[in-house]
Amino acid sequence: MDNYLLETIICPVCNNKLEYDTNLKELICNRDFLAYPINNGIPILIDIKARKVFSN
Ligand SMILES: [Zn+2]
Repeated sequence: MDNYLLETIICPVCNNKLEYDTNLKELICNRDFLAYPINNGIPILIDIKARKVFSN
């Protein structure tokens, strides 16, 4: 995933910066605990497409 792109990507729900999970290949919002999928290199920044994750 492109670093420049990653730094410009924010959560559409809370405008927080997203973290890229290299194992799951998802973009994580640590504020909403949402994981956005990446489809063919394109982040799907739509909240209804996001998966709920839990912080530890
Ligand atoms: Zn968020």
